Amino acid sequence: MPPLREVIKKHGLSANKALGQNFLFDTQLLSRIAAVPGDLAGEDVFEVGPGPGGLTQALLQAGAAVTAVERDERCLPALAELGEYFPDQLKIISDDALAINTDNLFDKPFHIVSNLPYNVGSALLIKWLSQPKWPPKWQSLTLMFQREVADRIVASEGSNAYGRLSILAQWRCEARLAINVHRSAFTPPPKVMSAIVHLTPKEQPQGVDPALLERLTQTAFHQRRKMLRQSLKGFSGATEALATVGIDSSRRPETVSVAEFVALARQLS
Ligand code: SAM
Repeated sequence: MPPLREVIKKHGLSANKALGQNFLFDTQLLSRIAAVPGDLAGEDVFEVGPGPGGLTQALLQAGAAVTAVERDERCLPALAELGEYFPDQLKIISDDALAINTDNLFDKPFHIVSNLPYNVGSALLIKWLSQPKWPPKWQSLTLMFQREVADRIVASEGSNAYGRLSILAQWRCEARLAINVHRSAFTPPPKVMSAIVHLTPKEQPQGVDPALLERLTQTAFHQRRKMLRQSLKGFSGATEALATVGIDSSRRPETVSVAEFVALARQLS
């Protein structure tokens, strides 16, 4: 297979900032990312934004059957060429990942692996975490984020990064920071550092409405320096629910654990 830099040159794939294009060329790093979900031989993988195909190639070499969605049509010929080296292993969809219902693409559980475009990364994560059916059909998420977003996903209560995204992610998943990625690993390099986060679905406590939990955390963290009794003042039933589940209303939202927020949402459901 030709080196990625040659693929880029041959197909004129200059990076488009509006599409969040920061490409990875380091094959060792790409293999490490493809190894994060575990052994992918014979597994189905969904990839967002294959671009010139660096991560796609690492996933195919790990033995995965990859379905990838790419919005930039300039990348399609390069990806078609990559597919010729891995017969029947690669399917490309030319579309916007936000419009895709992943469950319809696979007839068995699958993994999601992506060096996400930063402009839609959080929206995609929230979409995959918010689906009503739980556990979901996807078995794991292995996703590149800006380091600051990765920190928010895995943050524990009491830290500055802890907030709505931490609670949604850790309510539904085990979440860990798998690989720190230096900005210089990308072409062109972004302004900030990045990290790969790995999430696997966990058993869900029953009787919690995801939309209510989301509204609750949004209201609580809207004024994160305020006490709960203040920030949740307008949230119907919250004062009583705090007392019932034993959360001191003088606490600030960042000190309230995921389990406590879930208990509160269950009480309010
Ligand atoms: N996977 C490649 C790599 O690791 O080098 C490229 C990753 S680059 C950070 C993000 C890719 O997502 C780009 O190829 C970009 O065109 C694509 N992209 C951006 N927005 C998209 C969207 N809404 N749906 C699908 N692909 C998108």
